[in-house]
Amino acid sequence: MTQRPVNSKAIRIVLATRNPGKSREIIATLGPLPVEVVSLAEIDPGHSIAEPEETGLTFADNARDKAHYYARATGCWALADDSGLEVDALGGEPGVYSARYASEDCPPEPKRDVIDPANNAKLLRCLANVPEELRTGRFVCTLAVSDGQRIVLESRGVIEGHIGHELQGQNGFGYDPLFVLRDRGCTMAELPADDKNAISHRGQAVRKMAELLREYFAAIG
Ligand code: IMP
Repeated sequence: MTQRPVNSKAIRIVLATRNPGKSREIIATLGPLPVEVVSLAEIDPGHSIAEPEETGLTFADNARDKAHYYARATGCWALADDSGLEVDALGGEPGVYSARYASEDCPPEPKRDVIDPANNAKLLRCLANVPEELRTGRFVCTLAVSDGQRIVLESRGVIEGHIGHELQGQNGFGYDPLFVLRDRGCTMAELPADDKNAISHRGQAVRKMAELLREYFAAIG
């Protein structure tokens, strides 16, 4: 059983993602903390820890399940995220299925350069008859920190937008080329990475989590 650490010096937080880009971005956005933050690749370079299934019905459930899973597998605290796109005209879909929305159109275990275009093509097909004003949606990101027994902290970030009619922009990933930021007159994929991070669901959730972690560790000493 995981022992409750008596102070922050006993704590190490592992980032529950194998995506090196995401790890780097989260570590940079978290900024300095009074605890060590390590990537999963550093803790488990040989991939001996299998990826958990994502079976939750909400982003928060998936983030909590993943955080518990990696905390228990590593013996460290774990910070996990889950994110995706909710489209109002589709009753909130693709939601927790965002990553595998068009999996039926792809070979097994498709790489990002196959699944992302397939997901975007499916989204455009599903919205083909939906008028401009009803093409509203949002990116959502939730983060959870587990100590192996309980969820210690959680945060959430949301950015509202519209789903466009065609792909625009080369930056980012996933649904970014279809996610129109009306006030900026561009898609998320047309923003430089730093500008996206300053407003994105993930950037918001990570900055909130950094604040919560600093407060938490200041309180326990
Ligand atoms: P994950 O939480 O990184 O697994 O993301 C789930 C899926 O949601 C991704 O595969 C993308 O399809 C979508 N998604 C999440 N965040 C973003 C984003 O910032 N831009 C575009 N798509 C995103």
